[in-house]
Amino acid sequence: MKHVDEFRDPVKAKVLLKEITVIAKELKERLKRPVYIMEVCGGHTHSIFRYGIENMLPETIELIHGPGCPVCVLPMGRVDDCVAIAERDNVIFTTFGDAIRVPGSKKSLLQAKAEGADVRMVYSPMDALSIAKNNPDKEVVFFGLGFETTMPSTALTVLKAEADGINNFSLFCNHITIIPTVKAVLDSPDLQLDGFLGPGHVSMVIGNKPYQFIAEHYNRPVVVAGFEPLDILQSLWMVLKQLQAGEARIENQYNRIVPEEGNKMALEAIAKTFELREFFEWRGLGSIDHSGVQLKAEYAAFDAEKKFIVPAVTIADPKACQCGEVLKGAIKPWQCKVFAKACTPETPLGALMVSSEGSCAAYHQFGGDRLDAVQAKAKLNIPINEARNA
Ligand code: SF4
Repeated sequence: MKHVDEFRDPVKAKVLLKEITVIAKELKERLKRPVYIMEVCGGHTHSIFRYGIENMLPETIELIHGPGCPVCVLPMGRVDDCVAIAERDNVIFTTFGDAIRVPGSKKSLLQAKAEGADVRMVYSPMDALSIAKNNPDKEVVFFGLGFETTMPSTALTVLKAEADGINNFSLFCNHITIIPTVKAVLDSPDLQLDGFLGPGHVSMVIGNKPYQFIAEHYNRPVVVAGFEPLDILQSLWMVLKQLQAGEARIENQYNRIVPEEGNKMALEAIAKTFELREFFEWRGLGSIDHSGVQLKAEYAAFDAEKKFIVPAVTIADPKACQCGEVLKGAIKPWQCKVFAKACTPETPLGALMVSSEGSCAAYHQFGGDRLDAVQAKAKLNIPINEARNA
């Protein structure tokens, strides 16, 4: 298939849905419960809601929306650190647009900007480096955020800054890595999962081999998936086929984009500049060992955490916020007590309501009339599947 509408063909979608329904019914009878499949990536969560895929699926399948949205898992303390750096005299703080509204314990970067801090949105870390070159009397800090998908461009920017002898540019590094995160999810005692849709974007960089442990040690199938409706439906079908056959393998549905071995140049840039942190704090998931990266000692001159004093305080989420439970799939977004009440896209209480890849924002944006029905039923404590089929 070459054109995007071919990946949205309703006739092919119906064929896949029919097959999915048959296999999922058989599996439900065998398991005596629905089949639980986690989409790890926030991009998949967005597509699933945008195209109404969750509503098309039979109630024998439960999709669990995983922790793969880097903005959503950013803890409040790190946002406070951003604000503390941004509010320093002489600093220009640069960030991707979706991080600017994430609430900290007192304010977001957007609020800091409104109060006078020089916070600027950029489209790439190289834009931040250009700002540094054009403002030699200022300290320019780039807010590095994201999984292995965005890590290479940050790494290459640091290497470029070094090569060009730029000494007023630094990185506030919040990059995170996918494998320890998935492992933490699999080790979570309160989570039941039968298989995964693997993250398409991250896998472009790391390839498919790093997921092998999921099949070998946890006996769960993984299908690395694309982001169009047929990609997602086909990938779900592939996971179900493996479960039906009692298999657990790593398959690559997104092979038009994802090379088996990953992107060698990108991996080299990451390996040259970054090293694993001992642990990293995640919103709602707590501290996960080796789940974040930091600049290696030889690039300390570009490390904002070494250049500036940051508070580095762990801040608990607001009491009413249930982002952690949503991230672990323990509850659905609409079951959070403050969903669409105190927490809306205009006034987000939790990070899942900020990014378009956050499941709460996706439910809010694409729920439509069904959202009202679901909310009304949730208030009456009607079970998830029943509410979903309202
Ligand atoms: S509704 Fe808001 S507070 Fe509740 S889980 Fe979603 S983002 Fe977090």
